[in-house]
Amino acid sequence: MFQRAQLFFLFSNGHKSMVKRKIVGFHLDEKQDWVADLECGHTQHVRHNPPWENRPWVITKEGRAEQIGRELNCKNCEAPPR
Ligand SMILES: [Zn+2]
Repeated sequence: MFQRAQLFFLFSNGHKSMVKRKIVGFHLDEKQDWVADLECGHTQHVRHNPPWENRPWVITKEGRAEQIGRELNCKNCEAPPR
């Protein structure tokens, strides 16, 4: 488990510039996957898809409410403008 967590850490830190955006809300997409709405207007999937993505909090209303105001790395903001 520890090794897997480490791997995730490495992957998620692959970008040199990380743009932190606060979560302002959540909604479900057409596949019933949870998507976080970020303050910058972008969105990011926050799936609960064990063992790869463990976010048991996302499936409860209370869990999601706790995450409002937390920061996520916004990959859309990280991407260089085209
Ligand atoms: Zn963004």
